[in-house]
Amino acid sequence: MSGMIRDRHQIWSITETLGTRYSRRPKKRNPAGAPLGKTGFSGHSDRMASRLIEKTVGGVRLQGFSLAGEETIMIVPEMNVAFDIGRAPREAIGIDHICLSHGHMDHAAGLAYYFSQRNFQGTPPGTVLAHHKLVPAIEDLLQVWGRIEGHVSPGRIIGVDEDEDFQLHRSLVIRPFRVSHPGPTLGFSLVEVRKKLKPEFVSLSGQQIADLKRSGQIVEDRLEIPRVAFCSDSAIGPFLDRDHVRNAEVLIVECTFFEPDHLDRARQGQHTYIDDLPQLLDRVRSPHIVLMHMSRRTGIGAAKRYLRRLLKPADLERLTIFMDLPAPQRGHRPDDKA
Ligand SMILES: [Zn+2]
Repeated sequence: MSGMIRDRHQIWSITETLGTRYSRRPKKRNPAGAPLGKTGFSGHSDRMASRLIEKTVGGVRLQGFSLAGEETIMIVPEMNVAFDIGRAPREAIGIDHICLSHGHMDHAAGLAYYFSQRNFQGTPPGTVLAHHKLVPAIEDLLQVWGRIEGHVSPGRIIGVDEDEDFQLHRSLVIRPFRVSHPGPTLGFSLVEVRKKLKPEFVSLSGQQIADLKRSGQIVEDRLEIPRVAFCSDSAIGPFLDRDHVRNAEVLIVECTFFEPDHLDRARQGQHTYIDDLPQLLDRVRSPHIVLMHMSRRTGIGAAKRYLRRLLKPADLERLTIFMDLPAPQRGHRPDDKA
């Protein structure tokens, strides 16, 4: 069952104003492998080329960037949601819901800029979901920026914790869950909710069903389909056994460290180490698993070689390394060691 729905009145007012936006598909899909930054901002595409990577995994379009200690943001444009804000790339500014996993700077740096840019562009204030414990500090941040900038940018900051669902619209909820990382850290699942008429009522007429509803009878079953789960920075942990995580159609997990002498760093910082992946892959049923948050200490080519040595071919098939792209999509390769 779903948890508490927060701030229902507010949510409906958001979805009303944004309803059309949510259902709108992008006018022009970026063909796989095509450089980003070619749509919109005509005449500026070269100078303003996006630094985000775009991939469609399991039918879900992801736009993002994720390198450990540098920046992590993962946008699901068709669902109008971003996981973390990174340094607030321009693609994130028009996204109405930001799920902030934790307060580390590489995930949270762009928060004030996000609110300020929306204000500047005349867009309604965005909504940020963050752990309850982070909310006062985020509010302070906006106040401090108000003193610097001369005015406070409006923002809607909603505190959440595990299983405190946020109803994004009638058929989609954001479900937070606790992961294993220092400080208050949450992952988030995007769960599609469908209502299906109970089998015993399928032969009834619309009028009869309406009458039953009026009499207080529950006539529908609730069906939950976990579409995307974003597991934030985290060591592997019990959250992987949650149904909406392990069955997510697309599961986004970190794997920060790959080198034999990086195991201690991984354990100290509560990050995932490459040797944790076989267990992780056994534990979850997701057909599509996206690896993010790699360290620049390991080039992507080397990471792929380690993975090929370690994992079964069937598991390799399930994996997508988010930052692994053909050269034309990027100005520089994350292969370059920092
Ligand atoms: Zn991080």
